[in-house]
Amino acid sequence: MFIYKCFSCGCEVSSEKELSDVVCPKCGEKMLRVKPPMKLGEILVHFGLIDAEKVERALDIQKRIDHHYPLGKILVKLGLISSNQLYEILGIQRKAFFGVKL
Ligand SMILES: [Zn+2]
Repeated sequence: MFIYKCFSCGCEVSSEKELSDVVCPKCGEKMLRVKPPMKLGEILVHFGLIDAEKVERALDIQKRIDHHYPLGKILVKLGLISSNQLYEILGIQRKAFFGVKL
């Protein structure tokens, strides 16, 4: 079971199979997958801030240095996203996943 949630109005959609580009039936915002939860890299790609290939590159670097080092910081250091974009996405991530039972 896949669950998608609108970070804007909080409504949820569930589906037996994975969907792509789910749009909120109430407000038309792009919905985030909360079960299983989307990773930061996926959310950035979802909002079109970065392409998947660049996320892969950053994940590679993360594996080599320290897998606990935050991916977002690596992306900012590589100049692939701005710190403002990171801050915004982390806010959306918290908002979407807050209070959601997984
Ligand atoms: Zn909505």
